[in-house]
Amino acid sequence: MKNHNYEALQEELEKQPNILITTHRGPDGDAMGSSLALYQVLKAQGYEVSVVVPNSYAKFLNWLPCNEDVLEFEGNEEKAQALIDAAELIFCLDFNDLRRTDMMCEALESASAKYVMIDHHQEPSDFADFIFSVPIVCSTAQLIYEFIDQMGWKELLTLDIAKCIYTGLVTDTGSFRFSSVDTRTHEIAANLIDLGLEQADIHQKLFDNNKESRLKLLGYCLSEKLEVLPEYHTAVMSLNREELDRFNFVKGDTEGFVNYALSIDGVVFTAFFVKYDDKVKISFRSLNDFRANLLSKKYFDGGGHINAAGGIFEGSLEDAIAKFKEVLPEYKNELLANC
Ligand code: 5GP
Ligand code: MN
Repeated sequence: MKNHNYEALQEELEKQPNILITTHRGPDGDAMGSSLALYQVLKAQGYEVSVVVPNSYAKFLNWLPCNEDVLEFEGNEEKAQALIDAAELIFCLDFNDLRRTDMMCEALESASAKYVMIDHHQEPSDFADFIFSVPIVCSTAQLIYEFIDQMGWKELLTLDIAKCIYTGLVTDTGSFRFSSVDTRTHEIAANLIDLGLEQADIHQKLFDNNKESRLKLLGYCLSEKLEVLPEYHTAVMSLNREELDRFNFVKGDTEGFVNYALSIDGVVFTAFFVKYDDKVKISFRSLNDFRANLLSKKYFDGGGHINAAGGIFEGSLEDAIAKFKEVLPEYKNELLANC
């Protein structure tokens, strides 16, 4: 069993390998917080280390310490490829299948480096040489904290690193509200606050940064595009390209929209469809034991967690929604049981 083999990884790290840290496409708060926390710890340990992410991420994460050191693969392919080629150890954070890196997948597959996976998604694939996978844990950031602790690096924690870890905890737990939060999550948050972290400041940076156009897009989405399907305790929302353009959409603007529909009394499952260039990106959220990830995996080439999953559909927005409505009856009993 390779999982959680700290000793073997210690041995590998003793060789002073050149290190690269990466995460999934469309990095979220957990992905960026975890990557930049680990980056700073490894740098403090004297390693040659870089962070390369597949593509751009939401602006509300740009304040993270060391954000300026992150290289986006998309648009910087040559430079990124050189870093991948030079890497001897690649940390894969917040994903468990190389395909989740999308445009960066091929480059990673051809790398000669050893892989370390630190992740909290279900059913890890077996591409990594060192695996630290705990699907019941709320965030990769929590696993990064444990990892730092287990490696004996806790004295390297700084306020800047604390900000990164805290960001991962907050963003992947809906601000500490999901059932995946455990006593350890709060204990870690407390330890981070002991390092001087001002949590009100972090929450403000993450959530009180709306542009007027984003708030208006949300208002439009809720008032004009929300459809509740009472029979299935499900709500559906969608946005097409024209609607996104009308509200000057930029990446990250629709983040969190899917959760609003879940707050409707009697709704235990929501799906949010957004049309990008040639694909429809779908976000699923659920309450209780309804396994959003299984539906996504079966019908939308996706996956994720029980209560928060995502997928894609190749085709029109209308066809994606029609397919969703077509498969809902299969889940009727399960949806009812989770009300
Ligand atoms: P979001 O709705 O925030 O994009 O995604 C929620 C969660 O679903 C993510 O944290 C990730 O675990 C998972 N997820 C999103 N998109 C995909 C996808 O295309 N494939 C898989 N396997 N998981 C996804
Ligand atoms: Mn995560």
